[in-house]
Amino acid sequence: MEPQRTCIGCRVTEGKSGLVRLAWVDGVGVAVDPEQRLPGRGCYLHPACVETALRRGAVGRALRRVVDRGQLADAVMDLTTSIE
Ligand SMILES: [Zn+2]
Repeated sequence: MEPQRTCIGCRVTEGKSGLVRLAWVDGVGVAVDPEQRLPGRGCYLHPACVETALRRGAVGRALRRVVDRGQLADAVMDLTTSIE
C-alpha cells in the first residue's frame, strides 16, 4: 500500500501521491519537493490546503523551523505553478 501522510492543513491522512511535500533546505528555507525525496525534514499537504496551513503557521511548526513569511510565500508560489 502507498505510504500514508497527514496533511498539515486539514489533518486528513492520505496517500503520498495525493499530497505535496514541502521540505526544509539549508540556506534556502522552505522548498517544494515535487519528487518527494529531498533529504531532511518535510511535511505534506493538499494543494487546496496551502492557505489554511499558512494561516495556522502549520508549515513552520511541522518543519520545526522559523519560517520567513516572504520566503514561504515564494515557495508556495512555486507550488501553485508546479501543480498546473
Ligand atoms: Zn488537506
